[in-house]
Amino acid sequence: MDLKGKTPWEVLPTVWKSESSYMSFFRGQLRRAWSRHPMRIELLKSRRLKVPEEERERLGNRIKHCYRCESCGKIHASKNIEVDHIKPAGSLKTKEDLGSFASRLLFVMPGDLQLLCKDLCHPVKSYMDARNVSEEEASLSLALSKFMKQPAKKQKNILSVTGLPLNNPEQRKQAFYSAIKEGVLTNPFKGTNFSNK
Ligand SMILES: [Zn+2]
Repeated sequence: MDLKGKTPWEVLPTVWKSESSYMSFFRGQLRRAWSRHPMRIELLKSRRLKVPEEERERLGNRIKHCYRCESCGKIHASKNIEVDHIKPAGSLKTKEDLGSFASRLLFVMPGDLQLLCKDLCHPVKSYMDARNVSEEEASLSLALSKFMKQPAKKQKNILSVTGLPLNNPEQRKQAFYSAIKEGVLTNPFKGTNFSNK
């Protein structure tokens, strides 16, 4: 086989069917390195808190340690807390991205990292990073996409109080925005606080 000018995924097509699956393999491997990174593990260790009495019932009796989310300020069990790169590692889609992605992901100091809760603040922060949008916009977009994943019948039920037409997804989207604006619906992605970061 003449390998000249060939790419790795052309040489081993049964392993990677395209450039995108090749890069996705490296993203996974590098993220694995990140999950075992001593800087990450030590940061978690240093931020570990004893469960305060008033949080015991909410977190459950079996939870021994907890962490405070640096954005919403709430206490979370370790399974609901994640270490975020304040400056995002960015995308890894081509060979050219490898160096910058790996160095932003792995060459980090404690000050480059923050603890964020898994269900609220981290998704909002990741959305802000990926789309370069405001906190407000990220929280609204995430809320909308979560809402629109429900069956149409359920969406209509929830939005019926708005009195707006709800026949197609676009109408329901508009009604959703209006319901959030009027306070008829609560945005489950509201409550983050990245303004002082
Ligand atoms: Zn949070």
